[in-house]
Order: sequence, then structure tokens, then C-alpha cells
Amino acid sequence: MIRPGPDHGHWSYADKAQWQLEFPYCGGQMQSPINIDTNSTIFSRELQPVVLAGYNLDPSEQLSLMNNGHTVVLQLPGSLTIASGYPQEYRAMQLHLHWGSPEGPGSEHTVDGRRYDGEIHMVYYNPSYESIKEAMRQPGGLAVLAAFLQVGPEDNVHYQPLLEQLHEVQEEGKQTAVAGFNIEGLLPANLGHYYRYSGSLTTPPCYQTVNWTVFNQTVLLSKEQISLLETTLQGDDDKDLQNNFRLTQSLHGRKVLASFQTALRPRQVPLPDGGVPSVTPAPNGATEGGMDEAPGAGAGCPPCTDSEKLGFSLQTADVLACLFGILFAVTALAFLIYIHKQRSQNTRPDSHPKPNIIYTAATIDENAA
Ligand SMILES: [Zn+2]
Repeated sequence: MIRPGPDHGHWSYADKAQWQLEFPYCGGQMQSPINIDTNSTIFSRELQPVVLAGYNLDPSEQLSLMNNGHTVVLQLPGSLTIASGYPQEYRAMQLHLHWGSPEGPGSEHTVDGRRYDGEIHMVYYNPSYESIKEAMRQPGGLAVLAAFLQVGPEDNVHYQPLLEQLHEVQEEGKQTAVAGFNIEGLLPANLGHYYRYSGSLTTPPCYQTVNWTVFNQTVLLSKEQISLLETTLQGDDDKDLQNNFRLTQSLHGRKVLASFQTALRPRQVPLPDGGVPSVTPAPNGATEGGMDEAPGAGAGCPPCTDSEKLGFSLQTADVLACLFGILFAVTALAFLIYIHKQRSQNTRPDSHPKPNIIYTAATIDENAA
């Protein structure tokens, strides 16, 4: 996922099971990517929408695009920041992509076991550290904004500046310049619904210092655009650069927070002060209206679309169930009282029948309906 420095070339996706022999952190207990089990996520109201600043770059600004043998990397100016959504500010370093092949999808994270066609990673560092190199080794020193790429009905115009330059960097080590464009357009329109957990770089040296944000809304690209990504570049062995994703890693007890309610019963863990636990060292389908705001970015949130709608409808269902429960209890109580009185009358031969009672009970039923 992340190209931490120039000391690359000593690993490949073919030998990822052996990464930890040369890079010990890769065998750690806070590794990325992970599978996000939406039934196990913890809803946190503290997770505010991600707010970006400075992403609409002028075309006169030239950005470096490079094939490093593992992925295609676009260097980003530090003037691009995450202004909100984390406890501290983060500044951009680079973005890159992960993808599969014509035979299968290639996102790094999965949601409820589902792998998406691809995944974009925007990588940031915490400027409170002396250097990027230092930040990479410190807890919370890095942040990555991740979004799933998914085949949609039409070209995503926001990805064209990147994709149309891919042939320029077909071979490993090739580099070209890309004119500035609106970088934010590469992310989903909805930056408010996301998962957050503490993890690592997904490539060696696998430093466990990344505050991950995985957006719920996917980014839609056309079938042709996804195919271009899967078939254009060559890796360090001069073969097609495909399936550049790491398999999901064990959580080892880590919690995954969600900025939105994902399940039938949101697992919001109350704290003494009424808050929810924050991620200490921690990091679209078709979300409603996503495509309207950013063509191609959004509109379908397969991990989430259903769950978002489900979450809303379940809340409504809870209220209705409660109301009907009360009505049912009142009706049942009235019926029991009626039965009791009827029996009392039957056991008292001297009592007079009260035929109106049955209409009283019926009236209650009508009201209940
Ligand atoms: Zn990555």
C-alpha cells in the first residue's frame, strides 16, 4: 500500500507470507488491511465528518506520477490537509491505488468478507513530528484515507487525469508529470460515513502507526477504467502489475469504530461520562445522492448502502414495535378484565349480565387498529 521510502525492491506480493522475516513489524498484532465486520463495529458519535482543505489544485502545479513496481504513486503537496475528522491535523504525502486483475477484484480491506474491485489510499503524516520519517515510526504518526473502487455505469471524470497518464509509467521506475486537478474528486462524495481503526502500512516495513479511515461510500469507475488500471502497468518482474493487495490481517482484539450506525443494535459502548471510547492509537456504494455531487464518486455503497438504509428503517421499526406493544398490552389487559368479569358473572347466578361490556372491549380494538 504505502511506499515509505526509496529502500524498495526487496519484497513482492508473491512472497508476502515471508515479509515478516525481513520486516518484523509485518508479523505484529496491529496489521492492515483487515476485514471490517459491520456487525462488530462500534458506533461512535465522536467521529466527525472528514473535512479536507486545499485539494483543488491549479493545473499549473505539476505532480509527480510514478510506477514504483508495486503500485502507481501520485506525490501530493503538504498543503493538502485533513482539517477535521481526526484529533489532529494531517498533511498529505502521496496517494496510490490497489487493484486486482481481469480475473478478480483487488481491494485491500474487505467488508463482511466482500472484496471490491480496487482501493485508493491517500497517505498523510502528522506534522507535529520533526520529519515524515519520524512520524512514520510513531503511534498516530500517519493517517490513510481509503475508499473502495467499484465498477459503475460510466467513466469517472475525476480519475481521468491519473488514468490517461498510466501508459507513460508502464514500466517500473518510470515517472511523469501530471497537471494539478481536484484531488478530492478521487474520494467519495460522502466523507461523513466511515470506519476508523488503528493499523499499519500494508507493505513492508509494515509500521504499526496508521490511523485508518475507510469510507463507507464507494467510488465508481467505468468497467473500461478499471480494466485500464488492471492491465496497463508492469511490476518489478516485467510482468503485469496485478493483484497488488495484501491479504486481510487478524484484528487481535482491536476495535473498529464506525461514524454511523451499521447494525440492528448499535454497539455503542457507554463510558462513565456518557461518551464512547475513542481510537487511541488508531484510523461507497451508493450512498444517497453521491453521484449527484461528484460524478462517479459515490452512488453505490455496497458495503453500506444496505446497512445505512437498514439502520434507518430499524430505528423506525423499533419505535413502531414499541407503540404496537403498548397497544397490544392495553388490549390484552382489557380482554383479561372482560374475561374475568364474565367468569365472575357466570359464577354468580344472581348477577345481571352487562352486555355493553363486550362493545366496550370492541371499541378498544377499533381504536387500536
Ligand atoms: Zn496502500
